[in-house]
Amino acid sequence: MRLFGVTCALLLLLAGARSLATETHQLTTVLKPGINFVGWVGQPIYADDLFEALPESQLVYSWDGEAKQFRFSSPHLRGDLYKIDPGMGIVIRIAGDETVEWVRPDDRPAPILFLEPGWNLIAWSGADGVSLREARSSLDLEDADIVAPEGVTRLDFADAIWVNTPHAIEWNQVAGIPLDLIATGAASTANKNASVTEALAAIDWYRQEFDLEIEAHLTLYLHFECEELLADALPEHDVLGDLECLGSYHPFSAWAGPDYVVVDLGALYMWGNSWRPHDFFRDVYTHELAHILQYQLLERSLLDEPAWLVEGVATWMTTHRKILGIITVSNQGVQK
Ligand SMILES: [Zn+2]
Repeated sequence: MRLFGVTCALLLLLAGARSLATETHQLTTVLKPGINFVGWVGQPIYADDLFEALPESQLVYSWDGEAKQFRFSSPHLRGDLYKIDPGMGIVIRIAGDETVEWVRPDDRPAPILFLEPGWNLIAWSGADGVSLREARSSLDLEDADIVAPEGVTRLDFADAIWVNTPHAIEWNQVAGIPLDLIATGAASTANKNASVTEALAAIDWYRQEFDLEIEAHLTLYLHFECEELLADALPEHDVLGDLECLGSYHPFSAWAGPDYVVVDLGALYMWGNSWRPHDFFRDVYTHELAHILQYQLLERSLLDEPAWLVEGVATWMTTHRKILGIITVSNQGVQK
């Protein structure tokens, strides 16, 4: 197992740049004058960019289930809601007395959602026409409440809903998500959601861009301390942990095995931008999924291959995804 280890020092150099969303699908939502509850199903968007895309909006706010408080932003007064992440429910106030047809990004598949104890305002990412009772049964939690705003009784994709749960819970609203996430206790809900969303986006990017399908059912491990990870979460891969964690110094932000990725969240705070976890995870998973595809294509350990080639390809993928359109790839090779 030790031979499966691939480490990623170069990744540290790449974290932190602003992401470039590649939106392929769109969704039309009719907003009425006044208050509208909406589930956000696009890539992460800054509140300022939302106001630019929707000039009729006067105010946007959301409920932070972790801090248990509302956060807001408006075009004229920057509040404390800076960024809207996929899976969030938001409230938008529309000015005037006309309805607005809002064409907005629709980036399926939806993330697994991590709900905090107490109330959460989130997006419904399942099918259209699902009753509240059906949605509640998919939560598989006796004591949870689901409340749809504005008297809605059936949910459509990208609606907003309130969910009240007695304890933290992971909700997979869409069957067939091809990955699991195992996080140690200190990982925040925002980091867990960003991790799953960006891993799914990276899987989709390799599919769209290179026609390469990740065949493994992936497990994502998030941790702050290697020792914590070894003790709690990673028994079957402990040799990899030994490789990275022995001693007190472990400089790598992430590594990959044939069907898993381990991410050190400390790197997000040291090298990335903890206000923008999506940017960090986007780079991490683009890089690490390149290694998983290398395992898949070679069917052997990568440690016997030249490091410049193995790491070079993974690093190139991350850069290519950032500057898509500047470099094109053809069967004949790479062209500027
Ligand atoms: Zn690497």
